[in-house]
Amino acid sequence: MLDKKKEKNKMTWREAFRLNNRAMKLWWEKYPQMFATNILTRVMNTATPYINIWFSARIIGELAGERNPERLFSLILSLLLLNVFLGVAKAVLAHWNSALLWTAYEGVNCMYNEKLLSMDFASLDSSHTRDLFAKIQQNDNWSNWGLRRTLWQVGYGFLIDGTVGIAGAAVLSLPLFTRAVSKTEGGLAIINSPLVNILLFGLLLGAVLLSPALVRRADDYWVGYSEQARFGNRAFGFFGRAGYEHHRALDVRVYRQDNLFRKKMKEADGISFGIKSPIAKSARGAGGLLHAASDMVGRVFTGAVYLFVCIKAWAGAFDVGEVTQYIGAVTLLYETMATLLRQLGEMRTNAAFLQDTFEFLDIPDDMYKGSLTTEKRRDCNYEIEFCNVSFRYPDTEIDVLKNVSLKFRVGEKLAVVGENGSGKTTFIKLLCRLYDPTEGEIRLNGIDIRKYSHREYMSIFSVVFQDYKLFAFPLGQNVAAGMDYDADKAKACLQEAGVGERVSRMKDGLETYLYKDFDEGGVEISGGEAQKIAIARALYKDAAFLILDEPTAALDPVAEYEVYTKFNEIVGERTAIYISHRLASCRFCDEIAVFDKGRVCQRGSHEKLLADTDGKYYALWHAQAQYYKKENMA
Ligand code: ADP
Repeated sequence: MLDKKKEKNKMTWREAFRLNNRAMKLWWEKYPQMFATNILTRVMNTATPYINIWFSARIIGELAGERNPERLFSLILSLLLLNVFLGVAKAVLAHWNSALLWTAYEGVNCMYNEKLLSMDFASLDSSHTRDLFAKIQQNDNWSNWGLRRTLWQVGYGFLIDGTVGIAGAAVLSLPLFTRAVSKTEGGLAIINSPLVNILLFGLLLGAVLLSPALVRRADDYWVGYSEQARFGNRAFGFFGRAGYEHHRALDVRVYRQDNLFRKKMKEADGISFGIKSPIAKSARGAGGLLHAASDMVGRVFTGAVYLFVCIKAWAGAFDVGEVTQYIGAVTLLYETMATLLRQLGEMRTNAAFLQDTFEFLDIPDDMYKGSLTTEKRRDCNYEIEFCNVSFRYPDTEIDVLKNVSLKFRVGEKLAVVGENGSGKTTFIKLLCRLYDPTEGEIRLNGIDIRKYSHREYMSIFSVVFQDYKLFAFPLGQNVAAGMDYDADKAKACLQEAGVGERVSRMKDGLETYLYKDFDEGGVEISGGEAQKIAIARALYKDAAFLILDEPTAALDPVAEYEVYTKFNEIVGERTAIYISHRLASCRFCDEIAVFDKGRVCQRGSHEKLLADTDGKYYALWHAQAQYYKKENMA
């Protein structure tokens, strides 16, 4: 785990500002208005107490002094009008600002989503990306560390608060130091000594530096427990919500997993947020004490200010009305300076979390993408060749494809068979350029596929992956993978895929929602029906290559038989690749490639392969034969 505490200590202020500036730039590009509302709100919030302090001092002074009714009235009226104006303006700005803030808060998810949707599949699939993203999300869930933390700093408003606040307080408190006590006051006149002023300044600076430093130390405890907090969030996110997950409901009841979940939650509670957890112990112990000490420093300083101001007022340096002004101003000066330092510290702590965020957002699209067009051919006359292709997944040691050489003849039906883990799906991932080979080359019509425009190259493939997913959208949109669709074509594809009859029974036809996530009237479909809809989606794309990766896994034997006997009809002119570990499903293909431990060990028609009694195909066929009826296997 990355130790944010250590990282923070290593991080220079320059680097912290650089990362923070980048976050600001990001917000500025997306939500420029937020800067205006945020800054204006802050200026008004900061200015209000000083205005009130100034007017209160004048009003009390007037009451205790000349008691001129006209001056008193105009002071009260001005104070009232100013407060009404500021109140209304602040309310309007606050609503506007919070609406923008919420949009931006949610916008963080959209930003991540965009990155995840657009990055190369190989990057998305890498364990590093997944770990990094999980870490970002957990830090965000835990305490909004990362991008969301920078939202309150938009436009570096806290620096503005600090500057306005310090300037206001300095102006209001200046006379406290310049007004001298009359010499006739004897011993009290010692307070006029510049040394006393220097002492008070020293106290102010000491308190300003010490109080946020103590809070930072306390925060270090908090940040240091990020691993426990992340674990807690992850555990509560999983075990604490297990009941929400409909697909677990059956297992939970049959195996009484609810007991397991409760115990796991209790275990997690002890490690993360529970009263016996280290986080809670630190809150009661060192962390809490440091916070209390920081508070105490503030109180001691306020006490000293009271003493100083009261002695000066007692000795007649200024009237009683000004007492409130000076006490208020100096206390505010201290609080503003302390807050500014604390916020700067928080910005620096957060910068370490921003490093992860930007590492994720900066993940490059390394895959070389050429610009050649694939020219849409009506005759589907594409020829694909694997030339000595080997492949190893990133961060792994073993080649899962070894020296594969294979040529597809146009319009043919190729079956790829082999045991689980022999590399069949990986072969398809390479064919569709989700990954590039580690060695060797894949060629389309004699040209390395890397030289083609990626988007165009992808457009010649339709794949039904083993773990395909449908959306809880209307059926027609699922089939067309788009909002607008050609209804006749969608119906024809569904019919071809063998689910036409089921669709005709759906109340709203193609507009029927699948599942109930977005529509109470949505239909629940079986695994087999879903698989057929996924096949219809592949047909609708009308690509030159149709690839079915174990398409019959969720089908019952009758439906499976239906799909594979209708396969030729479904495929039509297209070149088809049919992957299965069930050999009986592949007999109808023109050619069968047998994969074994990442190599193509045999190739040929069903009859030819079966004739080789020493071959892998023969062994697999006879191993599976016992599971099928004789007539199916003949
Ligand atoms: P098949 O489709 O024949 O069942 P696969 O192509 O899915 O086989 O897998 C071949 C091998 O590659 C397996 O050993 C599998 O564990 C490994 N593998 C698959 N996907 C990944 C991945 N994303 N990262 C690392 N190894 C993987």
